Amino acid sequence: DDHKDCPLDKDALGRGTWGLLHTMAAAYPEKPTENDRKGVVSFMNLLSNMYPCEYCAKDLRQDLAKDPPDTKNHSAFSLWMCKLHNRVNEKLGKPTFDCSKVDERWRDGPKDGSCG
Ligand code: FAD
Repeated sequence: DDHKDCPLDKDALGRGTWGLLHTMAAAYPEKPTENDRKGVVSFMNLLSNMYPCEYCAKDLRQDLAKDPPDTKNHSAFSLWMCKLHNRVNEKLGKPTFDCSKVDERWRDGPKDGSCG
């Protein structure tokens, strides 16, 4: 349960990590520098070595080798992250997420302003 001070299980770790990853993509610039671009590639590669769920990390390494991060600009990187997450969703039998809504979900919030 996320509300208790317990060590993270695989699902709580996953939710927290996806929150970080999608929020990083939400903040990724429209016109990234070479440094920005190299940074997110290194980050994803390091994550795939360090992620503390061994079989999750192994699949992530294979996935990154097949489909490396698209770091051109904000929308390319956010879409790439959304597709990465959807491949995990599919593997786990979860519904896929509509990637056209990724900025609404992780950057702008809903149009009714309910997220402040
Ligand atoms: P999560 O999948 O954690 O998603 C959190 C929220 O993100 C959702 O509520 C939704 O609002 C939003 N969201 C969902 N899909 C997308 C998308 N495509 N794009 C943008 N936003 C989206 N678990 C395993 O059991 N086996 C694995 O091999 C495994 N590999 C993982 C690899 C990585 C890199 C990560 C970060 C996590 C992995 N997990 C794995 C954990 C798994 O993905 C989920 O985090 C966990 O099952 C909890 O799922 P959830 O239903 O709470 O929502």
